Amino acid sequence: MGLVLLVAGTAAALPPGWQAAGRSPEARARLRAWMERLRAERLASDLVPLELRLLEEAQRAPTSEEALAWAELAAAAAPGDPRARWVLVTRPETRWAERVRHGLAALRAVVADPWVAGQLAARAALGVGLAGWATLAALLVWGAAARGRLLLHDYADAFPWRYRRWTPFGVGLFLAGAAWAAGFGPGAGLGALAAALVPYLPSRGRVLAAGAFLAAFSLPLALGLGAFDPDSSSRAWQRYLVRTGAEPGAFEPGPDADPVVRYTLAQRRGRRDEAARVAEAALARGEDPGFWHVTLGNAAYLRGRYQEAEGHYQAAAAARPDDPVPWYNLHLARLARLELRGADEALQKARSVDASAVERFEARQPPGEGDGVPAAVPVPPAWIYGPLLRPAAVPAWAGPVVGWFVWPWPAVPVWAAGLAGFVLALLAGRLAGARRSRLCPGCGVVVCPRCGYRVKGTELCAACWSLDRAEAPDPAETERVRERRRRWRRRLDRGTRLGNAVLPGWGRFLS
Ligand SMILES: [Zn+2]
Ligand SMILES: [Zn+2]
Repeated sequence: MGLVLLVAGTAAALPPGWQAAGRSPEARARLRAWMERLRAERLASDLVPLELRLLEEAQRAPTSEEALAWAELAAAAAPGDPRARWVLVTRPETRWAERVRHGLAALRAVVADPWVAGQLAARAALGVGLAGWATLAALLVWGAAARGRLLLHDYADAFPWRYRRWTPFGVGLFLAGAAWAAGFGPGAGLGALAAALVPYLPSRGRVLAAGAFLAAFSLPLALGLGAFDPDSSSRAWQRYLVRTGAEPGAFEPGPDADPVVRYTLAQRRGRRDEAARVAEAALARGEDPGFWHVTLGNAAYLRGRYQEAEGHYQAAAAARPDDPVPWYNLHLARLARLELRGADEALQKARSVDASAVERFEARQPPGEGDGVPAAVPVPPAWIYGPLLRPAAVPAWAGPVVGWFVWPWPAVPVWAAGLAGFVLALLAGRLAGARRSRLCPGCGVVVCPRCGYRVKGTELCAACWSLDRAEAPDPAETERVRERRRRWRRRLDRGTRLGNAVLPGWGRFLS
């Protein structure tokens, strides 16, 4: 009778006597075994339409015990769907230990859902790239405002002192024009400017900049990830629907559509010979023999063709030696043919591969007499997020945009600039060392290792150094330096307060 209903094939059709499942544990076990059979037949890990039907039943149940039983059946129908779990978490009659268990299962269902996981990975890649540019831009703005004059000072120091007034501007302008003419875009310019400012950042800022370089210049990669191949995505979506036991509406897959989808829809609509042909063709093409042999074996087993099923299970066991499913199903097929010794051997083999999985399969068997229910092979999640994350062919606009923004030579990959920036930022402190200018911690004046601002190896400027030693020759000069120190101190305090307001604990770094 169950088989007739399966041929009819609508998801929410339930076997006779199912109404008793709310009250009788016996009927509940029968319903669970029926669901297991449906799972093997329909190639669905989750029977979502059935789950929703059972949740309706839970809402209508007269007693809270029955409601709980229905909700638990719904969770068993779709273990990978968070909805039934969530209902169990929120029902007042669920015990607390069970609530925690179902809450964790709901969370795992959301995170491990192949569609969610695939989308998350792609969005995260895109987000990291954009965050890289935002961080780089913020560091550039802050670095130019707070430490820009140190860079300018060291840059001007590269010229003979008589030519430090206008020549640096001219050379800078000339360099920018030459870079522009050579094809470097604004992105490359921003990167170079940020790289020049990095040695003046505090160590935490340098680490931040290293990450930002890597993320920002790998953005073209992330864009490639974010732009999916539409054909591949729709294939992933259909597989996903198939996996959750839903049917893609009036969808009729063509002869070159995904074999998993074609097989499953043909099987659900009762066209078993067509389904078998699709599976044989997939096998002939060399697609995952473990999956397809178990699937074909289950179809044969459920139609009573035990010998044919046995052949498929044996082939599957050869292809997947460390999967208990083929061995367990082989045990069932031999049991049905009354080959008791062979059945026992297969069961021992399945137990030796994974004893706890066999225990689970046994628990799902129908109570009383009758054929066993074969264990199903779910469509692996990787078969969904694999095609989902397949990048599209690079769109026509991407090349010119990257060419304009960074540089036009595809032979020099942009991510190499990110890698160079990353290494440079991490090593900047050591590379620049004592050659870079610093700020006098006393008054904020540039302390330069080359010109006269720094005295005798101290980090203080000449004025602060002599003030420190109480050597100031002129009281008016002393007062001027003290005033400058007070101004600098107020500025630093303001910066620290602002920094702490924006990022608590980071005030000193930002000031
Ligand atoms: Zn000073
Ligand atoms: Zn200098």
